[in-house]
Amino acid sequence: MLSDNIFLKILEKKIPARILYEDEHCIAFHDNNPQAPVHVLIIPRKVIPTHADIQAEDRELLGHLHWVAAQLAEKLGIGDGYRLVLNCKERAGQTVPHLHLHLLGGRNFAWPPG
Ligand code: 5GP
Repeated sequence: MLSDNIFLKILEKKIPARILYEDEHCIAFHDNNPQAPVHVLIIPRKVIPTHADIQAEDRELLGHLHWVAAQLAEKLGIGDGYRLVLNCKERAGQTVPHLHLHLLGGRNFAWPPG
């Protein structure tokens, strides 16, 4: 079940997170339950609950999140191969109702995903 938006509390600095990057559009921080040696979450400051809620006006913002992911992958030493995951809604495993990109790296990944 989709829980409260804990990411808003991280954005507002009401709860701590290991923040790696922030700008006027997004922040990136380490996932607190990492599924790979590198597991970073990249989230927009704008609240977009799920991927299905993206509006035409959000297209540039989504591209920005991907650009930040590529920069961080290089900075974190996983530029040789990484996986981006975006879970949309409960059936796909989304638990926090605030769109986020998972940046995973530092190990090999299987296909198809689980
Ligand atoms: P989802 O399952 O919605 O795609 O991903 C949510 C992610 O947020 C999970 O990987 C989970 O470990 C992470 N997460 C949940 N709560 C917190 C938190 O309070 N701090 C951090 N750093 N990560 C969190």
